Amino acid sequence: MRHLALHWQILIGMVAGTLLGIGLNVFAGTRQVSVAEGLPQGIVSASIVDTSARTEIRYTRAGEPEVLWVIDPLTRALGEAKSVEALAQLDATAHQIYQEHGVSLAKRAGLWCKRLGGLFLRMLQMVAVPLIVTSLTSGILGLGGGEGVGRMFRRTLSYYLVTSMLAICTGLLMVNLVRPGLGGAAAGAGAAADETRAASLGDVLFAQLEALIPSNPLGALVAPDFLSIIAFTIAFSLFTIRVGGKVLESVRTAAQVGFDVMMAMTTAIIHLAPIGVFFLIAYVTATQGASVFQALAWYVLAVALALGIHACITLPLIVKFVAKRSPVEFARAMSPALLTAFSSASSNGTLPLTMSNVEKRGGVSNRTGSFVLPLGATINMDGTALYEAVAVLFIAQLHHNANLPLSQQIIVAFTALLASVGAAGIPHAGLVMMVIILQAVNLPVELQGVILAVDRVLDMARTSVNVWSDACGCAVVETLENRDAELASL
Ligand code: ASP
Repeated sequence: MRHLALHWQILIGMVAGTLLGIGLNVFAGTRQVSVAEGLPQGIVSASIVDTSARTEIRYTRAGEPEVLWVIDPLTRALGEAKSVEALAQLDATAHQIYQEHGVSLAKRAGLWCKRLGGLFLRMLQMVAVPLIVTSLTSGILGLGGGEGVGRMFRRTLSYYLVTSMLAICTGLLMVNLVRPGLGGAAAGAGAAADETRAASLGDVLFAQLEALIPSNPLGALVAPDFLSIIAFTIAFSLFTIRVGGKVLESVRTAAQVGFDVMMAMTTAIIHLAPIGVFFLIAYVTATQGASVFQALAWYVLAVALALGIHACITLPLIVKFVAKRSPVEFARAMSPALLTAFSSASSNGTLPLTMSNVEKRGGVSNRTGSFVLPLGATINMDGTALYEAVAVLFIAQLHHNANLPLSQQIIVAFTALLASVGAAGIPHAGLVMMVIILQAVNLPVELQGVILAVDRVLDMARTSVNVWSDACGCAVVETLENRDAELASL
């Protein structure tokens, strides 16, 4: 294994994990038991049917009628609990019976895989904050002068805006063509009331603005609150340049030294990626059976096609014609980060890997990578923006039994853009932000329940697209910066 290139190792880990997970799901994904002993006090009998798509828990107290709980994220027709965690809140006894007697082997094994894969993610999280701070500081101090930073900032933001809008348009086009919500393919839109309440769009954006001014920079480091960390680090570096002289020299040296050490640490952690990815993917495939996808096949297809077009056509064209690089080679260089993003569904978690791939394998300078990537992981989410647009239109098709009119689709496009900026780079963040868009076009938030079941796998796909877009942004900004430097030296 050692002499095999890292991306092959990760791919092997991914395939092996998938096979293990699917095997577990097929052969040990269902558990059906009737229990009469070892139950919590007062309970005389219980029976449980646990499958990857649905769980039924029945129990009886002496002299009382039977209690039935159903956990079914797809239909939620009986609607009692949308997840095992929710059940724990609603009925602790049912939850205890289920945990002690009913959990299928596939789910048990899956949760262990999640914990083991989680160790790898923790290591990445461990290096994230120090890596961002040292890398951004040394990057900006290397840029020298305010104008260099300003120009790079403008370029980065323009790239983010353009690609996110392109992604949303692709998503809208696809969902209008495939019309997943009008084919009657998605079953059971019945849903119980959801507790989620949306903040208004204004609130969300203002909170972003506030995050740019951390009232306590150390608190932001500890939280960690990435936008605040980035904003403060940029400000700190710019003022270091302004102070100049000896101070500039010492800060530059300190940042460089810290960065070198953090990079060495990250590189070492990255070698564990094949194992981490193996466990993470095994968790997903073991706990989510194929049945979950059947009912929502058209919807999954629409999202996947749109993500595919954006990742395999739009972004590569930009890399080829604006960054003037081979998209295939660049994708190969980025593959460890892309595969890790896929299995972890977290762009923040993948950030250390993305930074090291871009610089060490993609040939992008630290000054560009350290500036474009941390910012991108927080605010540039093409995959998420696209996904939000498709999901909301799908929900609208289910609800109205017709497509949303163009004017409403434009509202969806803009709110999706803002929601993707506001979404954190963590698993399922897009789902939380979607509530804002649903409210903007007056759709019932509860209908989100319909798409919950397939969110994890779509999250994996959109997170890879998010990371891929950040990486392409690096290539674009780097080429434009180099061109300017060449022109200036003429
Ligand atoms: N999981 C995504 C990310 O980390 C965010 C989302 O839920 O769309 O990039």
